[in-house]
Amino acid sequence: MSETIKTDALIVGAGPVGLFAVFELGLLDIKAHLVDILDKVGGQCGELYPEKPIYDIPAAPYITGQGLTDALMEQIKPFHPTFHLGEMVTSVEKIGEPLFRLTTDGGKIFETKVIVIAAGGGSFQPKRPPIQGIEPYEGKSVFYSVRQMEAFRGKRLLIVGGGDSALDWTLNLQPLAKRLTLIHRRDEFRAAPDSVNKMRVLVSGGGMELSIGQVTRLEGEGGQLTAAHVKDNAGATTRIECDTMLPFFGLTMKLGPVANWGLDLQSELVPVDTEKFETSVPGIFAVGDINTYPGKLKLILSGFHEVALMSQRAHRYVYPDKRLVFQYTTSSTSLQKKLGVA
Ligand SMILES: Cc1cc2nc3c(=O)[nH]c(=O)nc-3n(C[C@H](O)[C@H](O)[C@H](O)COP(=O)(O)OP(=O)(O)OC[C@H]3O[C@@H](n4cnc5c(N)ncnc54)[C@H](O)[C@@H]3O)c2cc1C
Repeated sequence: MSETIKTDALIVGAGPVGLFAVFELGLLDIKAHLVDILDKVGGQCGELYPEKPIYDIPAAPYITGQGLTDALMEQIKPFHPTFHLGEMVTSVEKIGEPLFRLTTDGGKIFETKVIVIAAGGGSFQPKRPPIQGIEPYEGKSVFYSVRQMEAFRGKRLLIVGGGDSALDWTLNLQPLAKRLTLIHRRDEFRAAPDSVNKMRVLVSGGGMELSIGQVTRLEGEGGQLTAAHVKDNAGATTRIECDTMLPFFGLTMKLGPVANWGLDLQSELVPVDTEKFETSVPGIFAVGDINTYPGKLKLILSGFHEVALMSQRAHRYVYPDKRLVFQYTTSSTSLQKKLGVA
């Protein structure tokens, strides 16, 4: 077991909301360590859609998932957060008022005054399509996320699914692919109507194919796909030659160890109040996709708002004797000094 790491705040999850929590806590002189299961920061933005544009980040009309992650990393630089990547926080124990001890599956032990759970959907895993023998192709020619669009340039692509991810990636990858076929079990889609319309325009213009049916069998060797068999609703099978298949059957959000930390839970989410985003345990906060409250929207901008309010309350635990004065970054020299700009 390693030496105990002492900190003001331990942030569980280095997704966009966990990253911005570093900033808001930092402005209030609260030092943070972050732990994330993934080997890189950015959460869903970095893992699931790094190259996809996000259009609803305030004052950033267009920014990719990776771009947002990079910008957040730049913004939090002045606060020198410490990252512990590739580790999962497994247990939380209350040892003071408030003081907590956390351990990771990598054997690290933390002692912290406040815990900020920014664990998103927990450990998210893509749902595997019900195709026998798919395993050897996974990670070689069958992928559940798109890390680099360029990797698919010139390929014969099969995209499987009818939700937003399937349709978004169809539209984004169609210009790069040599040939793209979207396969869905019925001719109705759950995705945004605008994306469905755009896809249909591409199909009618010959830019891609739409196949209604289910993938029943894969052909290939050594993990390299060469064709897929698609059975339509009348029972007829078509063989489609391809190099790569991208199934988008949704994600299983597994709450994971958070479920055992003694917090009240509601449908795998952590209920919080909307004044300070604190859980049922004083000193433990939950922000971003992991929390729930009336009217909650799982949007990045909601998480950003939540961490600002959370930090105000966290200050009381970290500095019980200090009065907190509200200040603007534009006019406060003290805040500007912390940011290294004054
Ligand atoms: C395809 C797609 C498109 C989207 N588009 C938009 C959009 O346009 N606009 C928008 O606002 N939102 C969008 N979203 C939603 C947005 O990505 C989420 O709201 C956002 O990522 C939530 O941020 P978060 O930091 O709360 O959680 P996450 O991004 O999920 O990050 C949580 C992190 O916590 C880690 N973690 C979990 N449990 C533990 C543990 N026990 N120990 C250590 N680490 C742990 C995970 O590994 C993960 O990295 C989109 C989502 C998807 C999937």
